[in-house]
Amino acid sequence: MSMMKAAIIYEHGGRDVVKLEQIPIPQPSADEVRIRVNACGLNWLDVGIRRGPKFGAIPLPIITGSDISGTIDALGNDVLDWNEGDEVTVYPLLTCGKCEFCRQGELTVCPEHQIIGEHVNGGLAEYVIVPAHNLIQKPKKLTHVQVASLPVVTMTAWHMLITVANLQAGETVFIPGAGGGVASMGIQMAKHAGAVVYTTTSTQEKMQAAKELGADFVFNYHDDDWVEQVVGATDGRGVDLAQDNVGAATWANTLKTLAQNGRMVVCGSHSGTNFDLAIPQIYHKQLSILGANGGTYNELSRALDIINEGHIRSVVDTMLSLDQIHEGHRILEDHDHFGKVVIEIA
Ligand SMILES: [Zn+2]
Repeated sequence: MSMMKAAIIYEHGGRDVVKLEQIPIPQPSADEVRIRVNACGLNWLDVGIRRGPKFGAIPLPIITGSDISGTIDALGNDVLDWNEGDEVTVYPLLTCGKCEFCRQGELTVCPEHQIIGEHVNGGLAEYVIVPAHNLIQKPKKLTHVQVASLPVVTMTAWHMLITVANLQAGETVFIPGAGGGVASMGIQMAKHAGAVVYTTTSTQEKMQAAKELGADFVFNYHDDDWVEQVVGATDGRGVDLAQDNVGAATWANTLKTLAQNGRMVVCGSHSGTNFDLAIPQIYHKQLSILGANGGTYNELSRALDIINEGHIRSVVDTMLSLDQIHEGHRILEDHDHFGKVVIEIA
């Protein structure tokens, strides 16, 4: 049987639980395709799965990797719309297709939704199997590495800002942690939508990079008074909308940046899931907290078209080989990046 190299997690723990091994190349069933992976991006999800589940068990062993760019290598018998050799990327959510939410296209709230690279094997291997209906044609003007930096953060940022928060041109938006994947995409999408963008990051170099993404006002979160600086830059009013995917480390301060009737859209909690909240802070200023959970196939397709046309760009910080997967986890855990870490596989 032919074998492939894969980064496999058999147990939760530190970086060294990610094992590089040779395993049999998987075969697609009737409605699936096999992709030869050219590149696979890393997300906080990969680190979270490795460390251990926050919400419900993860099947082990697992190959993580939700951001796949590659070339179709084998087709299931029922797959008619795609061909071997097609260059593709992958919508990373698996949904039931039958519930009331799926039928209305609200895939992100399907009660049975799963993620490629969390609940089934993902792309940190030479080959991966995915359902054919998750395929999206690779944006032609982008490299595999650029494409592999996009799906999760792109659909997430779009769903947060455009769909859930209904961002309007002229609004002011605060996005903490400009170097994060969702944030670096959110900054660009908010600018593309005509908003005025405020962000934070940590070094002069990263502050310059945030400006180059289009942020109008960039602050250093090592300054004790950065919240006052953000609010001051809005003439004391506060921002209309904040996009936060960081979690417990940023929530309290992100809330303080909001104007009266401000809204905060949230999607993640990799810095922690709980913190103390003074409830009057929400109702005195009539704030709205909006949850967002991933993104839909259509949102990802539309956003990739816009990126392919050059209006928004992929932000790749570091390219590594599969043998350097542990370094990839380290870079994310040490926040030693501005933009995405991508594993180049073929
Ligand atoms: Zn469903």
